[in-house]
Formats: sequence, C-alpha cells, structure tokens
Amino acid sequence: SRPHFYGPECHGLVSRIEGGALCREDGDYLIRESQNDRGRFTLVMRYIVLGVVKNFKLYYEDGKHFVGEKRFDSVYDLVEDGLITMFVESKAQDYIERMVHEPVYNSLTGYAPGFRYPANPAHEPAKSVTSPVMSPSPRHRNVTSPSKKSPSKLPTRPKCLLAQQYEKEHHYKSHTYRGLQWCEYCGNFMWGIIQQGVQCIDCGLNVHKQCSKLVPNDCQPALKHVQHVFGVDLTTLVKLHGTQRPIVVDMCISEIEKRGMDSEGIYRVSGSHDEIIELKAAFDQRKFHQLICTSKFDRIIFSLILPFLVGSEVNLTAYEDVNTIAGALKLYLRELPVPILPYRLYSRFINAAKISHEDGKLDAVRMALSATPGAHFETIKYLIQHLGRVSDISGENQMTSHNLGIVFGPTLLRTPEKDANQRYNYNDTQFQQGVIESMIEYRHHLF
Ligand SMILES: [Zn+2]
Ligand SMILES: [Zn+2]
Repeated sequence: SRPHFYGPECHGLVSRIEGGALCREDGDYLIRESQNDRGRFTLVMRYIVLGVVKNFKLYYEDGKHFVGEKRFDSVYDLVEDGLITMFVESKAQDYIERMVHEPVYNSLTGYAPGFRYPANPAHEPAKSVTSPVMSPSPRHRNVTSPSKKSPSKLPTRPKCLLAQQYEKEHHYKSHTYRGLQWCEYCGNFMWGIIQQGVQCIDCGLNVHKQCSKLVPNDCQPALKHVQHVFGVDLTTLVKLHGTQRPIVVDMCISEIEKRGMDSEGIYRVSGSHDEIIELKAAFDQRKFHQLICTSKFDRIIFSLILPFLVGSEVNLTAYEDVNTIAGALKLYLRELPVPILPYRLYSRFINAAKISHEDGKLDAVRMALSATPGAHFETIKYLIQHLGRVSDISGENQMTSHNLGIVFGPTLLRTPEKDANQRYNYNDTQFQQGVIESMIEYRHHLF
C-alpha cells in the first residue's frame, strides 16, 4: 500500500517516536505514514549539526516532492537540500541577518534581464522595512526622484522621458530555481528547503523572499516577460514601451480627433464587435509590440515617427466606422487590471462626488487625482482633455460632459470587485458619472 513514488525509504505506519529512533545517524532520513491520518506522509530527518530529528509534512504533486514552496524531483534531492539548508542556517545565522543590510543591488546595472537603473543612493534598506517602500508614492515624488535617472551607458534612453521615471512595484511569484542562483539584491546564493526566492514576472528579477521587501519600486518590464497590450497593467505597459501613455490611448484618440469629433453619439454608439476584437488582436500582436520595444531609434524621435511606423501593423484608417475605434479604446480601458482611477482611490473619488459645494468637490477630486500613479495621471489627463474637446462641440455630436460621464464613469472609476455586493452598491453609478462629468467640465482647473 506504500506509494510507488517514495521507494524503499517509505517505512509505512510508524509513530513519530519510532521514526526518530530509527534515524540514528546524522543525515539519516525516512518517510512514515501517519497513524492518525492515513494517507498523510511525513519526512523524518536527522539534522546533521545538532543531531536533532526533524519532521516535515511531505507532499507529492505532478511528479514533484515538496515540504514548502520549493519543488524537488526526488526525496533524495529534497533531503540533500534540507540538510544543507539547516547547516547553513545554524552556522551562519549572524551573517544571514546582516546580509540584507549590505545589498549589492545599488551597484547592479545590467545583470537582470530587464534593464535596471541604479538604485537610489540615499535608499536605506534598514529604514525601508518600516517605511512604505512598496506602496505607490504620490506622483510628484515619482517624477522627481533622483534615483530614476538613466545612466550614461544607455544614451538611447533620454533622461527626460517620463515613462522611465514612473515608479513600479515588482510583481513577485515564488520560484523554484534549477542549479545555483544568486539573489540580485543581497548578492548571496538562494537556498532553502521551504522556499528559495521569488522572481518578478515583469522584469525577471531574482531575490530572496526577505530581500524582496527591501527592493525599491524600480521594476523595468521586459518584452520577454510581458507579451500583450490589452489587459496589461498600465504602468507596466508604458514602461515597457517607453511611452508616456499607453499607445492604444494615443492612437485611438488621435484617429478620433481626425475624423470622429462631429460623429453623432461618439463613444455612446457601439461599433462592430468583430472589428473591435480584430483591432484588439492587432494591438496584441507580438510583431507590433516588438516594433515599439526594440526600436534602435532614440525614443523621442521614435515617438514622432511611430504613427508612420505602425501604420502597416495597426492601421486605424482601415476601420471606416469611427465607433469601432472608440469601442476599442473603451475596451482597452475596461480590460485594465487596475482602472485608470485605481481601486484604492475609489472611495475618495466617490466621496468627492458626494460633496455638494462645488469648490470643495473640486479640491477633493484634485487631491484624489494627485494620489494616482504617474502613468495613470498622465493618461486620465490626456483622456479628459480629449473628452473636453468632444463635449465642446456637443451641439454637433450630442455628447455633453454629462453624457460622456454616463459612458465613461463606470469604466474609469470601476467598483472594486470584492466588495461589489457589499459596501458599494449600484447607487454609486451616479457618483461615478458625476466624477467624470466634473473632471471634463473643470479640466482646466484640475490638470
Ligand atoms: Zn520587476
Ligand atoms: Zn537576498
């Protein structure tokens, strides 16, 4: 009845005490089945330095053995790693505690797959544990941070380019490394039987889990890791493309301003569903994506010639119905994982809309806007200014700021999902609309 994948080391039903007694020498190990909980297995291991016996709940899934996050091909590999882990942690505890305070990260500029800027020299890791390093900072701090300047090594990335200065958190996932991997924050090797380290899925940075809390918000996404345009986090996308705003927003707005401003019911009338999906696919195409990211041109010059370059890749002029282009823009905004006006600021915007006094309302909206991340702020500003121009000729297109608020409110200021049926209710709709309507009307005061 013993599982075939455990082999001869599996001793069947053995108590904790018996298991410990059977492991006589350091490094001895066995697998026992729990007497109280049949079908559950425990790894018993005699720890090499202190001679104590350790018990770990052992799991097997998809051909891999594990006692924590790290997966192993065989129990032998797991035990080997476990013994090394315990040896290292008992012999080098002092060093392990100290190592995160002397990071090599500040001197790294090209090891990670994604390009990395030198970290802020003023960044103090010890202080950062309690300071909000991982929480998005106010916009004005993001863009003036002295840490985010381009090094002279890469002249193709001009210092003035706002996108590179947007702060972005790394997006960590736990990772099992094959072979020896060193932590790109502290410079020490990854080890551990439970977990080794985490990898950022946007830029590929590898760090110890404990070090990940100290790494500054300087993630530079790489094409290798981010493969779409729609549905990708806004800051991630603009940093990847080196553009001030998402390319979809700029291209669609520019096309609509060319030939859709007087179109009756622009943004309210829906375009062809099939064409919108086709347009989305064109933007998501890897070829288009690569064209933007791997351009050898200076980014500023590139941004000027971009409309001509992408003409053959995403051709908006081919879509006769301007409502299709408006529809693609709305779809892009709807599919953002975090809306332009982020979830965490939802209540602030809604509460602002509830203020009846006009000046108070505008102040509250302005305050909430100032808390949006840089890339989000630039995008909402650009979009609202465009919608303002649409509403300026509402005599022709019938789209007043009120009507545009109805269309864009629930998309730009989306109700946070987990609370959809609780704290937030559909009565918010009028406030969602109201926020956008006010932004359009008072855009010259707000931006
Ligand atoms: Zn990253
Ligand atoms: Zn580390």
